Amino acid sequence: MWRNWVGNQQCEPRRVARPQSEDEVCELVAGAAAEGLRVRVAGAGHSFTPVVATDGLLLDLTGLPRIRSLDPERRRVVTGPATTIGEFGEPLWTEGLALANQGDIVAQQIAGAVSTATHGSGLEFGSFSSSVRRARIVTAGGDVVEADAGDLLHAVQVAVGALGVITELELEVAPAYRLRERIEHWSWEEAWEPFDELARTHRHYSFFWMPSDDSAQLYGLAEPGLSLAGRCHVKIYDTVGDEVSESEEPRRRVGPAYRIYPMVYEPNFHELEYFVPFERGREALAAMRELMLTRLPASVFPLEVRTVGSEEAWLSHSYGRDTVVLSVSGTPGTDYWPYLREVDRLLGQFDARVHWGKLHFLTREQLFQRYPRAGDFVELRATLDPHGVFLNDHLRPLFDTAEGA
Ligand SMILES: Cc1cc2nc3c(=O)[nH]c(=O)nc-3n(C[C@H](O)[C@H](O)[C@H](O)COP(=O)(O)OP(=O)(O)OC[C@H]3O[C@@H](n4cnc5c(N)ncnc54)[C@H](O)[C@@H]3O)c2cc1C
Repeated sequence: MWRNWVGNQQCEPRRVARPQSEDEVCELVAGAAAEGLRVRVAGAGHSFTPVVATDGLLLDLTGLPRIRSLDPERRRVVTGPATTIGEFGEPLWTEGLALANQGDIVAQQIAGAVSTATHGSGLEFGSFSSSVRRARIVTAGGDVVEADAGDLLHAVQVAVGALGVITELELEVAPAYRLRERIEHWSWEEAWEPFDELARTHRHYSFFWMPSDDSAQLYGLAEPGLSLAGRCHVKIYDTVGDEVSESEEPRRRVGPAYRIYPMVYEPNFHELEYFVPFERGREALAAMRELMLTRLPASVFPLEVRTVGSEEAWLSHSYGRDTVVLSVSGTPGTDYWPYLREVDRLLGQFDARVHWGKLHFLTREQLFQRYPRAGDFVELRATLDPHGVFLNDHLRPLFDTAEGA
């Protein structure tokens, strides 16, 4: 039995395998396909959606080598698929390098993060997918295909495991940088009114808006003796030079970027995250706040607000446009679906795209309307995997040509 981190997804694969080499992955995939078994890969299991689930062969790639080489001059790292985001920190820093941006946690495997367009915040940066310069994938026939440019690369950069098994990634990384953190508690107006300008002028501007007194505690943001109901936990990160000394002062830390980004979460939430065009972001945020206030207590988790820069990966939330990211959660054990469906309907009016690893209601029709290259992805997928070896019940309705475009 396989379960995801938060415990809302599980499956019973016929077989689980932990290959030690790419050759072994090829043999396992070819063997499973010949037997008529479907194949999926499990990363660190930090997706909320059934993107890993299979009743066929489930691959665990933690036996493959992790970081394989670092090239400070070209700013490249070559890695196996199962290296976690956290495992890049020290080795890159030692070579004067860093991941260009990071999200809220570091537990994800790099191939899992890339496959779902996992992102941090900041208009200067795309998701992890945008840093992929080359990928090796094992396709349904058990052959290795290398993607290093053009359409194939942009398809592989975000493929939700539907094109094949990623066995190696080459990422472009950044020169090592240090961040100065600034965490403040602002009113909604203070965080929302200058949103566009703050997002454009800071490396990272994001906030959590708390609809009620209970909200802050749910994401570990509570401050003793302080009511944060109706207020925002604002995070601003900017780079600093060597003249600024390191600091562990709460809410004003200064240090290597990879140590500043990560937050700590409990598995007490089921999250949805949608992405709207940057130009319509403020309008969408105001509409979401209204909806959340009318849907309390179902909407008790904070609204997290971030930005992502435009990128070229076909299935990315930020393909061809800068985006504002809105995320909310439901409380496990409650019927949060009617609330999340309202969020889906509301943000659908803003041409919202989804996070592949977080709860969503995207239909095939919406996929084709909202992702300009969806048709190309489905066509390419069919040529690489004509018998749907890498599809499951969640992905088939979206990506199988048999479902009709
Ligand atoms: C507490 C928490 C915080 C989070 N914070 C953020 C955040 O800040 N920003 C953000 O964008 N997202 C965030 N997420 C979502 C998370 O980053 C994504 O769901 C990500 O995909 C999880 O990576 P994983 O390694 O757990 O992959 P999994 O969930 O295990 O898998 C994700 C997908 O990748 C595929 N996959 C994995 N490895 C391979 C491979 N080698 N080849 C082919 N396909 C593969 C899987 O089959 C699956 O389809 C968060 C999730 C949690 C639970």
